[in-house]
Amino acid sequence: MDVNKKWLSIPKDIRKKLLKNVFCVNCLGAVEITSYIIEEHEMGIVLKGKCKNCGHDVARVVEDV
Ligand SMILES: [Zn+2]
Repeated sequence: MDVNKKWLSIPKDIRKKLLKNVFCVNCLGAVEITSYIIEEHEMGIVLKGKCKNCGHDVARVVEDV
């Protein structure tokens, strides 16, 4: 399945929560991801983007449900 379709198949409220709960190694906590792209991952899909607070690279794996 196309990664974007996979991502969009996740309910909108869950997607919102995932986007706002990405770990940033620079902020040492959960941050919001911005300017992200979606790629395939062995576990499902992975969001790759920037920390909204500091601009550090962040990524979050979203496992297949
Ligand atoms: Zn950060």
